[in-house]
Amino acid sequence: MPKIVTKVEYEIVRLLMVINIWWLGIKLYKNPLTAFKVVKQLIADFQEMIGNKKLVRAFKIDGKYAWDMFNPAWPSPGFNTFFRSHLQEIKPTSPDQLGLRRLLIAITKRCPLSCEHCSEGATLYNRDVLSCDEFIHRIDKYVQQGVGQLIYSGGEPLSRFEDLLTFLDRFNTKCDQWIYTSGFGLTLEKARELKKAGLNGAAISLDNHIEQNHNTFRGSSKSFYWVHEAVKNLQEIGVLVALNVCPTKSYIESGGVEELIELAKKWNVPIVNLLEPRAVGNYQDKEVELEIHHKERLKKLSNQFNFSQDFLVYPTVLYPAGYRSAKPCGGGISYLFLDYDGTLYPCPFCKVKMPKVPKKTALCEA
Ligand code: SF4
Repeated sequence: MPKIVTKVEYEIVRLLMVINIWWLGIKLYKNPLTAFKVVKQLIADFQEMIGNKKLVRAFKIDGKYAWDMFNPAWPSPGFNTFFRSHLQEIKPTSPDQLGLRRLLIAITKRCPLSCEHCSEGATLYNRDVLSCDEFIHRIDKYVQQGVGQLIYSGGEPLSRFEDLLTFLDRFNTKCDQWIYTSGFGLTLEKARELKKAGLNGAAISLDNHIEQNHNTFRGSSKSFYWVHEAVKNLQEIGVLVALNVCPTKSYIESGGVEELIELAKKWNVPIVNLLEPRAVGNYQDKEVELEIHHKERLKKLSNQFNFSQDFLVYPTVLYPAGYRSAKPCGGGISYLFLDYDGTLYPCPFCKVKMPKVPKKTALCEA
């Protein structure tokens, strides 16, 4: 189970983590002062993104400390690879250094569910094109370029279980590795196999705190059951768990998100990640995108749970779209999406094909 870390332990860990990044910078730039300036810039950028506030907690799981799902837990090889690339993004040591640090990979078109909002609705259930070796060949190139976090999605990545284990095992010593999953069929035995192969974290989709409503949204009477099973099984063996939530307008208006955060607290889930519905895939041409007042409500919730001492025992509530007013999204610069057929995109929602070797230009500022 994850342990909430606050106060003195939290401050010490933060300091050690910054020193770790500084040390990476010293080795990279061969100059402590240059490294110090770049780390200072990295911290300032992060602070600007979160509105110059201070997070009140971290989480300890499996001997590592985590703040969110977008930065690898510390200490770990993935943390070092990831932040070495982050430093390169701020001050590259040569023009060909990309600063790419996260790769999201859709490893299959298979899925046991049929969700209302699926962004992959048009291609789901089609035959997979790339073999395991062909995926490895492609992922290898990005890991060699400094990618420190690999996220396996789909479809449902568990539907290609043996190949998923192969990927995890191959990149275990270099990268922080996550799955974006519905949790469907994630038994304790499978959780153990995933952890043994190298899984660090799992973002499990839960879109409604009421079982029947979630199941209707996901098109399966067993979906909620498997979300809860997956959460329990992964946490039991020390894998960091987050809940990925796609709240609709009506769900936000009814106060559902607050209820879902309470449920996450009850299940000891340390992170809730709020994703805005997008008018793509099954939602194409539908009026699903949130209005300003919905966004403001989500931002307020995120601020309340992340920066107030009154909510220390709650999960950290991430709302990435809420940070975009301060910083554009990193799609096409710091992260990329590799689709099931090997096509590269800035992210799963902005399907603008990327050149084989991405340039240091943001393609997605949505
Ligand atoms: S679980 Fe994911 S891939 Fe499967 S139908 Fe739902 S949204 Fe689509």
